[in-house]
Amino acid sequence: MATHTVFNQVPPLEEYDLFQSDRALTDALRALAPQAEFDDARALGLLAGKPEWIERGRLANDFPPELHAFTARGERIDEVRYHPAWHDFMRVSVERGLHAAAWADPRPHPQLRRAVGFYLWSQVEAGHVCPISMTAAAIPAIRHQPELAAEWEPHITARSYDPRLAPYSEKNSALCGMAMTEKQGGSDVRANTTLATPQGSSGGGNLYTLLGHKWFCSAPMCDLFFVLAQAPGGLTCFLVPRILPDGTRNAFAIQRLKSKLGNRSNASAEIEFDGTQGWAVGEEGRGVATIAAMINQTRLDCALGSAALMRQALAQAIHHARHRMSFGKALVDHPSMANVLADLALESEAATMLALRLADVADAAVGDRHAAVLKRIGTGIGKFWVCKRAVAHVGEAIEALGGNGYVEESVMPRLYREVPVNSVWEGSGNINALDILRVLRKEPESIEALRTEYEPIRDDARVRDAFALVERYLSSAPEELEGSVRVLVERLALLWQAALMRRHSPDEVADAFIETRFGERSSIFGAISAKIPFGRIVERAAPVS
Ligand SMILES: Cc1cc2nc3c(=O)[nH]c(=O)nc-3n(C[C@H](O)[C@H](O)[C@H](O)COP(=O)(O)OP(=O)(O)OC[C@H]3O[C@@H](n4cnc5c(N)ncnc54)[C@H](O)[C@@H]3O)c2cc1C
Repeated sequence: MATHTVFNQVPPLEEYDLFQSDRALTDALRALAPQAEFDDARALGLLAGKPEWIERGRLANDFPPELHAFTARGERIDEVRYHPAWHDFMRVSVERGLHAAAWADPRPHPQLRRAVGFYLWSQVEAGHVCPISMTAAAIPAIRHQPELAAEWEPHITARSYDPRLAPYSEKNSALCGMAMTEKQGGSDVRANTTLATPQGSSGGGNLYTLLGHKWFCSAPMCDLFFVLAQAPGGLTCFLVPRILPDGTRNAFAIQRLKSKLGNRSNASAEIEFDGTQGWAVGEEGRGVATIAAMINQTRLDCALGSAALMRQALAQAIHHARHRMSFGKALVDHPSMANVLADLALESEAATMLALRLADVADAAVGDRHAAVLKRIGTGIGKFWVCKRAVAHVGEAIEALGGNGYVEESVMPRLYREVPVNSVWEGSGNINALDILRVLRKEPESIEALRTEYEPIRDDARVRDAFALVERYLSSAPEELEGSVRVLVERLALLWQAALMRRHSPDEVADAFIETRFGERSSIFGAISAKIPFGRIVERAAPVS
């Protein structure tokens, strides 16, 4: 006899359309690029909802990469082996250009197009987009050394995925990583001790020998790494290939792989350089400026990636609450649950709109000074804020699934483990916020660029205090401002999100955001005013097949 019948359990969220379901996304795209078709992204949105890809996402994380430092005979090989599912994700990302299309797509809005694909595809597996993002970010860095760019760019932008460690003449494609962080300092890269000695002439484009270590180096099976090291003229950026032009392996000893909180499908290694060959990208002493070009792009992806994790967590929470019955009705119909879901939906919509606007600004920044300044200040603001909010957001979304959100069969623990990393890497919160202060000081036009963004809410009485607070902080003494930099950046971000929602979202959604983020605020999700139309906001955000 059966012990029990299974009922009132929620079917898995699959066979749904991640693009079409996402009204924040489609509304933003309609406003930012009204003439553009996003057929590639639409296709990716459908693929990401397929059960076989959801299963691959699980496999890539349940069977994390393994280090094979030696052959059975004791020869050093320094290879990492991944589950086939990892390679499947990488292949799709590369074939669809998520690794380089921002620089190689001839159509208008290349950054925005690529950003939408990145946002959709990372919802089904977020770990593999680390090397995809680093490769996308490599192009502006390598362009600091035109002859290296001429040699490598065609390989970096190629759309064929080849995971072998082989000479590029054989594989015709190249993926990129970066290695800056050392044991004694990650944020403060000036503390790097890795030494670079010129083999002949010194300066940009010339060959050096590296000696030292890196404490974090993700995706160590990439073909090329951008490495910071101390040359005689100061901290310099080097291009370090894993395979040398003569076909032999460069010295690149993987000491061990990190055992990480999340981001498990992706390998993050500790490495040592001893006689490692690297070519200087940019002049000696210009390392930070060179690598900054790369980091600005990866910071955009941190904002996109966090918005993606929020959107996925929200979709899972709403799906669950619509199916699960409790005390005689669906969870979603209980007012206090509707409040939580509506609040999460507002946050997710604001994150998506800000991240997409950053990509749009990156497109506009090519040849436009105003947009270039906005990009410099805005990317930091978006990275800081969206990544910070995502951690609390995903945590709250788990609770909407009850115990089923806490067990490993659910995708929620994976999202929860993944989410803090975007805040840590590519400039942790404070470092990112301090960079924003630097831009504000060095480029006073940046605040003017932001004011243009705030135009749609300039006369809204509900945000008057926030504007006043920003002005007060901007005129305060530098030491005082540094101590309260997070307050300033939070307000700059919230005002920008409110303005974007005013412009692109339905009025009742924009008003709900403004009233709940600038009026009487609670520090927890799900405590917004009962006057907000919870039901309609949740309906707008619901995933549909
Ligand atoms: C999963 C993962 C993968 C990674 N992959 C890579 C990689 O591929 N390549 C790479 O180079 N690095 C990588 N990193 C390293 C990452 O970039 C660093 O961890 C990060 O930059 C912070 O450096 P740190 O760990 O040395 O911390 P620290 O620099 O010691 O910082 C610790 C904390 O102090 C704060 N802080 C530091 N200085 C100041 C200050 N002046 N004022 C106020 N607060 C400050 C920081 O914001 C941070 O919160 C990876 C990290 C992780 C977790």
